[in-house]
Amino acid sequence: MDNSLVILGAGESGVGVAILGQKKGFRVFVSDLGKIKEKYKNVLTDFNIDFEEEKHSVEKIFQAGLVVKSPGIPDTAPLIQQLKENKITVISEIEFAGRYNTAKTICITGSNGKTTTTLLTYHILKNAGLNVGLAGNVGKSFARQVAEEDHEIYVIELSSFQLDGMFEFKADVAVLLNITPDHLDRYGYNMQYYIDSKFRIIQNQTKSDYFIFNADDEIIKREIKNKQIKPVAIPFSLEKPAEMGAGTVKDQITINFYKNQFNMSILDLSLHGKHNTYNSMAAGIASMVFEIRDEQLRESLSDFKGVEHRLERFLKVHGIEFVNDSKATNVNSTWYALESLHEPIVWIAGGIDKGNDYSMLLNLVKEKVKAIVCLGKNNSKLHAAFHGVVEIVESVSSMEEAVKAAYYLARNGDSVLLSPACASFDLFENYEERGNQFKKEVRNL
Ligand code: ADP
Repeated sequence: MDNSLVILGAGESGVGVAILGQKKGFRVFVSDLGKIKEKYKNVLTDFNIDFEEEKHSVEKIFQAGLVVKSPGIPDTAPLIQQLKENKITVISEIEFAGRYNTAKTICITGSNGKTTTTLLTYHILKNAGLNVGLAGNVGKSFARQVAEEDHEIYVIELSSFQLDGMFEFKADVAVLLNITPDHLDRYGYNMQYYIDSKFRIIQNQTKSDYFIFNADDEIIKREIKNKQIKPVAIPFSLEKPAEMGAGTVKDQITINFYKNQFNMSILDLSLHGKHNTYNSMAAGIASMVFEIRDEQLRESLSDFKGVEHRLERFLKVHGIEFVNDSKATNVNSTWYALESLHEPIVWIAGGIDKGNDYSMLLNLVKEKVKAIVCLGKNNSKLHAAFHGVVEIVESVSSMEEAVKAAYYLARNGDSVLLSPACASFDLFENYEERGNQFKKEVRNL
């Protein structure tokens, strides 16, 4: 039946779709193979929405006119394959909500820096007094906001998994931060599939839309050469700024946007490190599309509080600075963390290795790291990569031991950096728990 909507996965995005779907007159059924969180069950019950948990009732699901699936369910899952074979359309939450959204959208993707740049852009627009909503992986789902709120602009963080389920959706402003290998297990270990997924951010854009991209990123540069780009393309780079675009000269960032030029010292940016200069430039350009005044942009770029677990400098103990970068779950983000801190560094790394190649870290580690504390169930790859490069490479099996070992190895003026370059699931529930335990143990010193 055509007005029947089946939602697979009852997390933040699934429940948002259920509410929006019901409001738009669909007959909604939500199905989750796992246990549904109490909080979401209550919402579904309050809205009188039909749901099931810990199973998929296949007969019911196959009656759907339309299926919206959680980004956590891979396209290769047998149920999704079968739905597609039966010509039942499967889309993502953002695609569904986009059909009913009339507000402007700024959509941000990349392998690293999405959350930081999304929150920073939101902060700038909000401070400037615009009626802006925040969506994607952060906070309330886009679908629920489209159902219940009334914003003029949305800043939306998009993962490649959301993008994979997007077909007709169009971003008014698309931001592509970088592309480095990640999640390849979901892309048949084919890097091009992952790249193509990221480039869906510009699909359907027209010449009155904007595409803001990292011009120092080799993969992005190569793809752009081979593609016809319809929107107004605005590069950002650590090199000199383009006539239309952002760049740096010495300690200064400059953004040229049509006739406007914005200047600011890098030293005044609240977020430190090269990666964050990129993030700040990207957010700055996106904001200039909405005609934010220079002073307001400058103020917001300098007073942004940063995001927990991302290169978070949270405490000094006896002159040793402790930095929580628990969100660094791949080698590339750890590279930027090591790059942005002053030496000497005691580096806490390890966890579940997603096929890491540590060679890109060798030079930085040689130059800046005095000791490595490996925190994971299996640390053999880290030992193999850095044995002989750094004098001290120790293994520990809990956060308490890791923090104590690092504290013992560090001296006044050093930094202790938790930047694992790995996923956290061997010893922790998720990266947040890993970061919180780190902070707790440091406070206990
Ligand atoms: P995402 O949402 O894409 O995972 P986050 O903003 O949560 O990105 O940051 C994830 C990790 O990547 C953090 O360790 C952070 O310090 C690092 N990081 C942030 N921005 C960038 C960037 N532009 N390039 C590389 N690494 C980055």
